[in-house]
Amino acid sequence: MAEKRDYYEVLGVEKSATADQIKSAYRKLAMKYHPDRNPGDESAKTKFQEASEAYEVLSNPEKRQRYDQYGHQGVNFGPGGFDFGRDFSGFQDVDLSDLFGNLFGGGGGFGSFGDLFGGGRRRQADPNAPERGRDMTMELEIDFDEAVFGSERSLDLSLPEQCDECGGTGAAKGSKRAKCHTCGGRGQVVRGNGFFQVRQTCPTCGGAGTVIEKPCPKCGGSGQMRVKRTISLRIPKGVDTGSRLRLAGKGAGGLRGGEPGDLYVLLRVRDSDVFLRDGLDLAVDVPVSPVDAAVGGSMDVPTPEGMASIKLPAGTPNGKLFRLRGKGMPSLRGGASGDLVARVTFEVPQRLTAKQRGLLDDLAKILDETNFPERQAFAQRVKTFFAHKEKLNG
Ligand SMILES: [Zn+2]
Ligand SMILES: [Zn+2]
Repeated sequence: MAEKRDYYEVLGVEKSATADQIKSAYRKLAMKYHPDRNPGDESAKTKFQEASEAYEVLSNPEKRQRYDQYGHQGVNFGPGGFDFGRDFSGFQDVDLSDLFGNLFGGGGGFGSFGDLFGGGRRRQADPNAPERGRDMTMELEIDFDEAVFGSERSLDLSLPEQCDECGGTGAAKGSKRAKCHTCGGRGQVVRGNGFFQVRQTCPTCGGAGTVIEKPCPKCGGSGQMRVKRTISLRIPKGVDTGSRLRLAGKGAGGLRGGEPGDLYVLLRVRDSDVFLRDGLDLAVDVPVSPVDAAVGGSMDVPTPEGMASIKLPAGTPNGKLFRLRGKGMPSLRGGASGDLVARVTFEVPQRLTAKQRGLLDDLAKILDETNFPERQAFAQRVKTFFAHKEKLNG
């Protein structure tokens, strides 16, 4: 047997890593080397299996302790030791929905539109039994407007479906399943040299004990083929980054009469160039003329429901906040909408004409200190500051 790598090294974590750190490290590797993301790449597959095996041990406190104490032998051969009958040829023993369900919380990178990866495929005890299709997860980036107004999307996806040539059996017409020669039909093989021996799932038949005599020419024996499908998706109002939409029965097709899996769509909402969003609340900076703010006027504020007009009292200061209750994001669950906070943001007039400039010059001449109470208060604070300086320097 080849020298096994240290499990901590495989996951790239310290010996003292917490359960969360281990999980997070595994999640990163699983995302990177997931077989569905690296079709046909044997080295990625090996890395995925290696990481899965390490995670299997290190995520279990008992196994981890034995591993820390005795190394690989502790988990492979100790009493109640690591069960090599479990199959690491795929990723069936790992609850990917759990791992990927936390994708957004973990700040993982987002793939592009239509980036698909499958969930875990369960071991099939009886190769002829119906098999439910895999749940599939895709990431979808949508515009902020779609999150506010809701939208209809049509997704062009290529999803695994039962091969129509062989009906999902993977066998060519007229051929049957025959006993696997590698394991003699037992589904397991014994590996190792001399002293140490391990039972492993048969690599030829994957534990089924039988193999396809002649693989179906259309699907190559997998029983599945990728089929292009157009799926319509309704995005409800109020979704946010991290919202997960479930489309029942729209995942991978089942095999041999099994029902299809589900399709999950993980959303990422792009930032708006108008609003800042914090959950259900929205904030917006509204450019206002300081002249209007001085004499009083109105301010037009965009809201998800349309424009709203806010009365500006004479003397409205820059940065003044107005809260519009219930004018924020619509609630996804049908509850109350959030609030919208509009902030007055002075825009100093640009590109003045001679006449405008003249008027402002005249105005500047007749404004005095009483027009600027904040400037007066500020001048007073500055004076006190320098008075202290003189006192301290004695
Ligand atoms: Zn076999
Ligand atoms: Zn086929």
